[in-house]
Amino acid sequence: MEKDFQKYAVSPSGSKLYFDNGPLNSGDIRIDGITNGAKWGGPVGTGAIISYSFPTVKSVWADDYATGFVGKRGDEPNTGFSAFTENEKSMVRDAMDMWEDAGNIIFVEVQETPTEVGIIRFGWTALYTGDPAYSSRPGPWGRNSDVWWHIDGRDHITSNYAGFVGVLTHELGHALGLSHGVDGTTNLPKDLDHQGNTIMSYNQAPHTEIDKTGMSRPKMFDILAITYLYGAKNSTDLFNPS
Ligand SMILES: [Zn+2]
Repeated sequence: MEKDFQKYAVSPSGSKLYFDNGPLNSGDIRIDGITNGAKWGGPVGTGAIISYSFPTVKSVWADDYATGFVGKRGDEPNTGFSAFTENEKSMVRDAMDMWEDAGNIIFVEVQETPTEVGIIRFGWTALYTGDPAYSSRPGPWGRNSDVWWHIDGRDHITSNYAGFVGVLTHELGHALGLSHGVDGTTNLPKDLDHQGNTIMSYNQAPHTEIDKTGMSRPKMFDILAITYLYGAKNSTDLFNPS
């Protein structure tokens, strides 16, 4: 089985497996307010098998890793890189499970080689660009959708299971094509832009009982948006692309 999955790996310098639909106009502000038009796989409504991998210090990175990104971002692999531990990897997979439950997405882990890596790669870096963790939208560059964590406070961060998985889930939202409610051309109305509706919001839910566990999982708007982008979970599209 693992051999079949290799075709979903990409070269370290990127892939053309993404699809830019341009600004979406689904007619539903709950969807249009947190999407940017980009997704992995085919056009809107088609599922995707998305590979991921965990780089090591020996991993290969594209020479143009920083291309297309503003500011300092892009130097993460060369600035105090550290690989994810087994425990951290398992929390990544827990976050992925929640997105797989939300839409027609399958994540497949691949082992990194000099010529093949996952579409989404995870690493720790000493490069601080203003956020403890960050990712980006699907796109053609090697860096698109990679998830970086700033290494300060690592033990503290990863000892909080719900907190770590919650942020991973938010970053994976970006990696899949979701944006903050305040980003882009179409924004969420202010009164809807909170974490009770979407994990992509900066604003806490008005009712704390919404998430008693403290676990941030995809919320209603996220599920609507992911379903719009990738189709509903268990759709046959994923296995019968046409
Ligand atoms: Zn974000």
